[in-house]
Amino acid sequence: MSCIGKKEHNFSPVNYSLEQWRLKMDEWNEKAFRGNQIYEYLHRSYGLGINEWNRLPKSLRDKLSELDIPKVVIEDKYVSDIDGTIKYLYKLYDDSYIEGVLMKYKYGYTLCVSTQVGCAMGCSFCASTKGGKQRDLEAYEILGQIYSVEIEEDISISHVVLMGMGEPLDNWDHVKRFMEILASKEGKNMSYRNMTVSTCGVVPGIEALAEWGKPVTLAISLHGTNDSERNEIMPINRKYPIDELMKTVDRYTNATGRRVSFEFTVIPGYNDSMESMDRLADLLSKKLCHVNLIPLNPIEEFNKGKQKSISIYKLADYLEKKNIQTSVRRTLGPDIDASCGQLRQRKVKGRN
Ligand code: SAH
Repeated sequence: MSCIGKKEHNFSPVNYSLEQWRLKMDEWNEKAFRGNQIYEYLHRSYGLGINEWNRLPKSLRDKLSELDIPKVVIEDKYVSDIDGTIKYLYKLYDDSYIEGVLMKYKYGYTLCVSTQVGCAMGCSFCASTKGGKQRDLEAYEILGQIYSVEIEEDISISHVVLMGMGEPLDNWDHVKRFMEILASKEGKNMSYRNMTVSTCGVVPGIEALAEWGKPVTLAISLHGTNDSERNEIMPINRKYPIDELMKTVDRYTNATGRRVSFEFTVIPGYNDSMESMDRLADLLSKKLCHVNLIPLNPIEEFNKGKQKSISIYKLADYLEKKNIQTSVRRTLGPDIDASCGQLRQRKVKGRN
């Protein structure tokens, strides 16, 4: 594969499914159960180097040591004094940076993971996309975010949201493989129900997700209630306009029976008028869905939303009265800039 780093890497086998490892062992004239052992070392013993995979014979370890294992390293972490939310800056094998956030809820730990280095989607309010997309993450690099945080904090993560840097449905093959390994009982055995895939509206990706048919939660980042509101801040809408997006969501719901979550970042003076809320309610009135209102986390490059805002809770009440199930996203870690993209931006700027 070609990559940005200094040297070429050969780590596609670390993304193998268990079945692929077992077949590989066959090819290497090893017993198939060695494939299970390798898979377990990769996905349950992240902290160990290959030379510490002691259940394997030395000859097999030597063979495997040619494999590059692209470890995700926690470079910096910021702990909120207010609610304990932790924000991570991770460094990858090619010296690029990604981010993540660990949140503690009553039901357990949720990690927000990145799926790409940068992002190609160009949403104007989002820091992650400002330098464009550098590359997709490999499945093992998405898993590595979870494994490294579990080791760092000595916890088990029960839920994962694909809401960090990047557009998951613009990296579908690796994202799918990531979720399949995460759900495998020989891996972390996480329920698909505890995974949320968030998209800005990549229609073919939503169709692929529906066809895959696993009970993950789909979150749609809507942020606008008609084409003109959405076009201005989310370029993806010019490719897949709101009407097409809504029809695709309906097909997704029919195919999966799953309730969809609509994320709506409230941009004061832009999308928070009562007319906008009426349109939002009309769009969603017949859908099996839930709305999550998110306070805008202002970034330097975005000049909307500077007006005084109407209370986000008033908007939530208004939508509830119109029978739209609504929640307001708790501002987690307000003291540590917990929205994605900003830490990396600082790091990359500092480096140049
Ligand atoms: N590309 C995917 C997932 C990553 S973004 C998506 O668009 O859904 C995760 C969520 O954070 C999205 O809902 C995104 O719109 C939102 N977001 C990005 N920047 C934000 C900001 N500055 N303030 C509030 N929400 C933001």
